[in-house]
Amino acid sequence: MSITHIEHIGIAVSSLEETIPFYEQLLGTKCYNVEEVKDQKVKTAFFMVGQTKIELLEPTDPEGPIGKFIASKGEGMHHIAFATTGIEDELQRVEANGVRLIDKSPRPGAEGLSIGFLHPKSTHGVLTEFCQDKNKK
Ligand code: ZN
Repeated sequence: MSITHIEHIGIAVSSLEETIPFYEQLLGTKCYNVEEVKDQKVKTAFFMVGQTKIELLEPTDPEGPIGKFIASKGEGMHHIAFATTGIEDELQRVEANGVRLIDKSPRPGAEGLSIGFLHPKSTHGVLTEFCQDKNKK
């Protein structure tokens, strides 16, 4: 069980309609998936860069986590997500080392991943996500 790579970087944006064409031009690659995550009150759009994804996050509700983030900080880098082969164990491991968890146990995220967030106050200001693709070994 370990952290294997950076799975994605999450970027908060006001409008996917505006930012998808921008990122397609910037990265020279097409957006390959747009998906709403109701639980998180966001619509997400994904780009593949090597084995790492760029995840654009547009709020569907100003009171959701991304809506509040943009209201207080504006658009920009929101979180970094590390892929792991054993999310339950990794969440327990960092919690045992004093990291505060937002998610005590994994929950469903975009793209069929199991995800869990660590609190930015205990990760030197970086909202950190662990995720695991349980369909993949
Ligand atoms: Zn994420």
